[in-house]
Amino acid sequence: MGAHSRKCDWCGSGTPIVRDMEPLNSAFQYWCEECARALVIKGDPIETYRELDGEPIYGRLLDEHCALKRFYSFATA
Ligand SMILES: [Zn+2]
Repeated sequence: MGAHSRKCDWCGSGTPIVRDMEPLNSAFQYWCEECARALVIKGDPIETYRELDGEPIYGRLLDEHCALKRFYSFATA
């Protein structure tokens, strides 16, 4: 039950890379990279998060996959 044995709350097997600090459902706080990416692509990214790996992995996912979103907000502004 230490941080090392934590698994992704969504798929139950991946190593978590990001934690949702304000989860809608407290059973889903820790996300592995694959599940986090799926969330971002779905357009439902974690808003208040903490990177768990000392590296901005989740930040990079947002950068990679949210370009379209930024485009939309420009287009409708
Ligand atoms: Zn996962």
